[in-house]
Amino acid sequence: MEKNDRKECVLYDRECTGCMECEVCDLDENKICDNCGKCLEIHDSAVIKIDKIII
Ligand code: SF4
Ligand code: SF4
Repeated sequence: MEKNDRKECVLYDRECTGCMECEVCDLDENKICDNCGKCLEIHDSAVIKIDKIII
């Protein structure tokens, strides 16, 4: 199997540039997500962010 060291961006069709946009808090764009769970409490149903599916 060929080894692939490139990390694909989870938001855009490109290689990861390390921009951290995918880590920004859903409620406060000035905060990096620390998994505090506050964004889950305001919804009727819980939503989790999936970065990647590895098959
Ligand atoms: S840090 Fe996140 S949003 Fe930015 S390029 Fe990498 S995977 Fe994509
Ligand atoms: S878990 Fe907390 S820090 Fe992360 S996106 Fe939700 S509210 Fe923001």
